[in-house]
Amino acid sequence: MEKKIPYKIYLEESELPRQWYNVRADMKNKPAPLLNPATLKPITFDELRQVFCDELARQELNDTDAYIDIPKEIRDFYKMYRPSPLVRAYCLEKELDTPAKIYYKFEGNNTSGSHKLNSAIAQAYYAKQQGLTGVTTETGAGQWGTALAMACAYFHLDCKVYMVKVSYEQKPFRREVMRTYGASVTPSPSNTTNVGRKILAEHPGTTGSLGCAISEAVEVAAADPNYRYVLGSVLSQVLLHQSVIGLETKAAMDKYDIQPDIIIGCAGGGSNLGGLISPFVGEMLRGEKQYQIIAVEPASCPSLTRGRFVYDFCDTGKVCPLSKMYTLGCDFIPSANHAGGLRYHGMSSVVSQLYADGYLEARSVEQTSVFAAAEQFARIEGILPAPESSHAIRVAIDEALKCKETGEEKTIVFGLTGTGYFDMVAYEKYNNGEMTDYIPTDEELEASFAKFPKVD
Ligand SMILES: *Cc1c(COP(=O)(O)O)cnc(C)c1O
Repeated sequence: MEKKIPYKIYLEESELPRQWYNVRADMKNKPAPLLNPATLKPITFDELRQVFCDELARQELNDTDAYIDIPKEIRDFYKMYRPSPLVRAYCLEKELDTPAKIYYKFEGNNTSGSHKLNSAIAQAYYAKQQGLTGVTTETGAGQWGTALAMACAYFHLDCKVYMVKVSYEQKPFRREVMRTYGASVTPSPSNTTNVGRKILAEHPGTTGSLGCAISEAVEVAAADPNYRYVLGSVLSQVLLHQSVIGLETKAAMDKYDIQPDIIIGCAGGGSNLGGLISPFVGEMLRGEKQYQIIAVEPASCPSLTRGRFVYDFCDTGKVCPLSKMYTLGCDFIPSANHAGGLRYHGMSSVVSQLYADGYLEARSVEQTSVFAAAEQFARIEGILPAPESSHAIRVAIDEALKCKETGEEKTIVFGLTGTGYFDMVAYEKYNNGEMTDYIPTDEELEASFAKFPKVD
């Protein structure tokens, strides 16, 4: 007898993950090591702990332990907003008239409005445990800064956020949420750092970039022994923390004997995608199961589909370690009309290696089609999705429509990473018919590739 699948599948508290899953342990081809930007040699623990908290530096370098305990303090915090629901999109299926079964794991059910809180609370916990005063970070659209502000408030840590200037100006309410949780927020580039002053001198009037905000946050943390820098995506430690998404998804599916065929996630730096797919990819790596996994990225910032798999800087200021990843070049900035998020130039080294080894495929989508999917989803499933998440919705709908043509009853699961309440300027553009698509030319990308660092 097939179990009746509820509209929302929740796990019991006793079924919540007690350990994160580290997919690197099961990878035959490990992600290439991070390199020290000064020496271009693999970075050591002692070098890494100058930038990150000790325990996080350890996690960053840990390629061997498949399971890592989630400290009780973090599990207690997770209980405030987890488990997140795995929702059967019955209404969307009916609307699309598809035989496909569609599920989404909804990570927007917390005040910060995205999955980023899963790693923010872990990073704040380890900083507190080490006796630090506070942390610095960058934020683009603002979700990471908000998540970190919440996490730091909980553990009474100081939180300094460098926010990309264009977002700082476009999203005053995000800024105020962060300040309400006690964070200080500085628009980047700023004249509070050397790198900020340099960038301002070279590019007066710049509206900033993530890479530049990262450089400023790193500089501030490096100047004070009681601060560390924390990052909300890209790093392997962040993917590790985000594995809680995939572990819950898998547990909920196993509970109802649901076998996914297609797993879809949006990909900016790769953390939610990596976290969602980790336990499933683990099964593939161990030869137990087969899934179709699709990473979705914006056509205006196509690191997986059009980037190169090389060592590159993670930040414009070239102060962070180098990572081997699919990248568009650390100076690449998506065109000014891009409103849909996922604007980071690179990709997690774990996701990059899995992609290079053929465990996942990548697709790029244009932002007007992303917002069309977002509106269709909002109107029928009720949730107003973040533009980032809507990349995954686009491809989930496309795959469900393919099933309608072929009559296949595939089971599709996608990550709905967050809500879009602070993205109404982008929605406004779309509603006014003013949103356009821009796809970078090969020449533009080649010009950016020409500046890759020389690493042998
Ligand atoms: C930050 C963010 C993303 C993209 O980041 P990843 O590291 O690629 O997961 C996607 N969706 C939302 C809602 C975000 O806030």
